[in-house]
Amino acid sequence: MVDLRSQYLNIKDDIDTAIRDVIDSCAFINGPAVKKFQENLEHYMGIKHVVPCANGTDALQVSMMALGLQPGDEVITSSFTFIATAEVIALLKLTPVLVDVDPDTYNIDPCAIERAITPKTKAIVPVHLFGQVAPMEEILAIAKKHNLYVIEDSCQAIGADYIFKNGIRKKAGAIGDIGCTSFFPSKNLGCYGDGGAIFTQDDALAKQMRIVVNHGMTVRYYHDYVGVNSRLDSIQAAILNAKLPYLDSYAAKRRGAAEFYDKAFGQHPKLKIPGRFPNSNHVFHQYTMVLKGVDRKALIEYLASCEIPAMIYYPVPLHLQKAYLDPRYKPGDFPVTEYLCNHVFSLPMHTELDEEQLMYITQNVLDFVNR
Ligand SMILES: *Cc1c(COP(=O)(O)O)cnc(C)c1O
Repeated sequence: MVDLRSQYLNIKDDIDTAIRDVIDSCAFINGPAVKKFQENLEHYMGIKHVVPCANGTDALQVSMMALGLQPGDEVITSSFTFIATAEVIALLKLTPVLVDVDPDTYNIDPCAIERAITPKTKAIVPVHLFGQVAPMEEILAIAKKHNLYVIEDSCQAIGADYIFKNGIRKKAGAIGDIGCTSFFPSKNLGCYGDGGAIFTQDDALAKQMRIVVNHGMTVRYYHDYVGVNSRLDSIQAAILNAKLPYLDSYAAKRRGAAEFYDKAFGQHPKLKIPGRFPNSNHVFHQYTMVLKGVDRKALIEYLASCEIPAMIYYPVPLHLQKAYLDPRYKPGDFPVTEYLCNHVFSLPMHTELDEEQLMYITQNVLDFVNR
């Protein structure tokens, strides 16, 4: 689905030098590379504070801890997403409140958010799924009206812009009270291991997040809060410093591949290409289509026989995951999510796809669906 090796070989000298410099310095934890990456990313994101941490899941957990959310507080999120959000909500003994998504963009539906609000609701976690920003203007308005925090799960959308109705542009993750991202290797800005970061404009919140990621420590060996140990390794930060200058060109390459797929599949009656939300520029973490009257399993098997990888993101809605079964929810509660889980299909999407590969992939998909 991704070609990390070719991407590495194209910038090998930058990466190798960055890693060697950290090893030479032996500053493996909180070394200068981490501080430098924090500043570089603050500049790129146009945000006051970047708090580096160990991964995107921790970014979400630390956000909820720093906000002081308490057991029983309700947190609204999408039913069609990766498990991480629901996982940290459960670990902190908060109550996840799931809402359905838009059938075209796959992102959380603001009308459904409004209907799910109760006196216990404390936060909304929109997920910018597959690299496209959720309808933040509507979500911010709902949050303001009901006095809720907004924590953006921007793990799949780093580099995407949100364009407000008045023309103002903000980066995904720099729009809500807090933004969370992941540098997992296959993410749009991936390191060579685990990594994550949290974004905020709020000085007090940033201070609290820095305390939480460092064992709840205020003064060395004085722990005023229960925290966690969540750091971005210096080696990973050095790799990210080397890769950050390429992020926008990487997004452009992904968009180019998406346009190729769009052209090949856009008019086909059995294929529905990903819908575009006009207020976001899509960075295509994934290219995910909806199949109409196509045997998905057989298609994936056929493509595998042509050595073309294809994946299902995601096969099971959150409310039907075994560990998260909840008497409040039953099959049929989130019809759009359930339909998508049964019909979506993702093709290879990365920065190194060339025209020949794209031709080969699209031709084989069409050969199968035209049978
Ligand atoms: C990848 C991802 C995460 C978690 O990131 P990790 O760094 O793997 O912990 C959370 N949410 C979404 C939507 C993701 O895609």
